[in-house]
Amino acid sequence: MTIAVYPGSFDPITNGHLDIIKRVSALFDKLVIGVYENPDKPLLFSPKERVKLAEEAVTGLPNVCVEPYSGLTIEFVRKVGSKLMIRGLRANSDFEHEFEMALMNKNLAPDIELVCLMASCQYQFLSSKLLKEVAALGGCLDGMVPDHVAAALKEKLSTKPSTVPMRKVEAKIKRVKN
Ligand code: ADP
Repeated sequence: MTIAVYPGSFDPITNGHLDIIKRVSALFDKLVIGVYENPDKPLLFSPKERVKLAEEAVTGLPNVCVEPYSGLTIEFVRKVGSKLMIRGLRANSDFEHEFEMALMNKNLAPDIELVCLMASCQYQFLSSKLLKEVAALGGCLDGMVPDHVAAALKEKLSTKPSTVPMRKVEAKIKRVKN
């Protein structure tokens, strides 16, 4: 049985990720989506939330499952019994980064192979980062994410603690004044 692993932050999962997932799941026996718990970048959703959103997005794909992981991606790939890592490449934005990571991973784990799929034309511009910016500004997310992800983004951003530090500062000022 050939198991492939698609690792990433998935903060949140987008239709660009899903396009890669659908294409890959048709090629291999099993696909494990690895949700990296603590990437070195600002996150909107917790690891649990990112896993849940991804799980809901792949319910129609019986040979796809979602698992959180921390530590080295190559260790996670080995842990699930795979030797195959999948990444998606968008024009201009991904190649250098993926190339650098691929060479490091090859050095660490020569037995694991990387397979990169080119992003489909309609998703070349789509990144989780840009998506969150558009969502925060109230832009339309049609065609970019599944409905449940759009709803989660809306809810998360409506309760986003961007004003909380300000409220805390105000509360402190009030306490000092009193
Ligand atoms: P990371 O934080 O590791 O870059 P992401 O969650 O952003 O992970 O993405 C996981 C993988 O999916 C990466 O290989 C990334 O290049 C790819 N990817 C992200 N967005 C798209 C998209 N719109 N189309 C195709 N691949 C994508």
